[in-house]
Amino acid sequence: MEKSLFVGGVVSLTTIDYPGHLSTVIFLQGCPWRCTYCHNRHLQSILPTESLPWEDILNLLAIRKGFVEAVVFSGGEPLMQERLVDAIGDVRSMGFKVGLHTAGPFPNVLAKVLHCVDWVGFDVKYTFENYSQITNIQDSGAAAKESLKLLVESGIAFEARITVHESMNIPSIVEILKELSSLGVKTVALQKCRDKCENVVEHAIFSDKLLLEDMSKYFDNFYIRG
Ligand code: SF4
Repeated sequence: MEKSLFVGGVVSLTTIDYPGHLSTVIFLQGCPWRCTYCHNRHLQSILPTESLPWEDILNLLAIRKGFVEAVVFSGGEPLMQERLVDAIGDVRSMGFKVGLHTAGPFPNVLAKVLHCVDWVGFDVKYTFENYSQITNIQDSGAAAKESLKLLVESGIAFEARITVHESMNIPSIVEILKELSSLGVKTVALQKCRDKCENVVEHAIFSDKLLLEDMSKYFDNFYIRG
């Protein structure tokens, strides 16, 4: 394939980025949104100061074959890269399962990619109507909602993840969860936010066990992380 896949980093072995699988995570450059709590600002530009050669990554994966089970494309926003489908084809032809982390800013691209991924981690930012309060981009909620609908309809295994930022009040979080349930989402993870020093930023919702138990009833799987 052409060498126009801009890779900002690789984590060669993780147990948390594709549930139940040992995986390698490839972080692709580029993101159209500017979330308040973004920890990957160096990935927001699609043009990196330095990009890891794709051939080197394929060589790394070849060495790990038989040990690593899956390759996860993360970001940034991986759907922003035109060469993503080719890259997925490369790792799939090596026998790896494919995971995708996305926030769904490009539903048209997601629709073209879904047939070749095995699992998706879908980041949910806020109530769809008020997405821009987190992403700082107008109409981001409409795009995310459309993507999530496509994902539900596809039948592909996925998890919706909400990073609970301190600016989100409890009624808003409850509203997000109800929106997800009404769209047919079955698996949700509420993730604790971290500050720039990677310390957990506590939020009152994580102390409200009764509310969390109540919310968990909306889903088949409901996880708390952080
Ligand atoms: S979608 Fe992800 S990578 Fe993009 S700005 Fe938000 S947190 Fe950062």
